[in-house]
Amino acid sequence: EWVNFNDFVAHILDRFDMIVKTNEKEGKKKYTIRRYLGSQALWVEIDTDKIAQVIDNIMNNAIKYSPNGGVITVKLSSEQHRVVLSIADQGLGIPREDLKKIFDRFYRVDKARSRAQGGTGLGLAISKEIVEEHHGQIWASGSEGKGSIFYITLPYEPMSEGDDWDEV
Ligand code: ATP
Ligand code: MG
Repeated sequence: EWVNFNDFVAHILDRFDMIVKTNEKEGKKKYTIRRYLGSQALWVEIDTDKIAQVIDNIMNNAIKYSPNGGVITVKLSSEQHRVVLSIADQGLGIPREDLKKIFDRFYRVDKARSRAQGGTGLGLAISKEIVEEHHGQIWASGSEGKGSIFYITLPYEPMSEGDDWDEV
């Protein structure tokens, strides 16, 4: 399905903004999302259910591994052949030696800590599979204690002027 990735991401973040409102009422974890999505339409051909699942998982991790009141910063930009989505949190961070391993099935940084948080350790492995099916890339950066940044890229071709309908 062809979607404007800009709107697509915005709708997912709207849902997380709604969740934080109900969380507040129920005394659950608070977080603030800062979004820098730009206004340019970025048309990508994706399996919308699957890519939504990837963004959901990274957002849920950002919330799960952050202290109450953390800020999550979401940025979208485009390059010549790809769009780049980054999701940064102010949470626990990930030790350098684990930055690649967290995409392995069942790998969790701190077994005890992660078990207490719930989940299976499959979220990022599934996310990587989905992103690679789309010929995109996914990786993490950041360091322990300074928060984490997750990046997703997807293939994208900017429309050239010749593609303009007015020219037909
Ligand atoms: P599941 O997603 O299956 O419910 P999970 O969140 O533990 O469980 P993944 O999403 O695959 O599994 O993440 C793997 C591990 O990577 C986590 O257990 C955690 O140790 C680490 N991790 C992932 N995201 C973050 C983050 N934003 N900050 C700190 N650690 C993270
Ligand atoms: Mg997860």
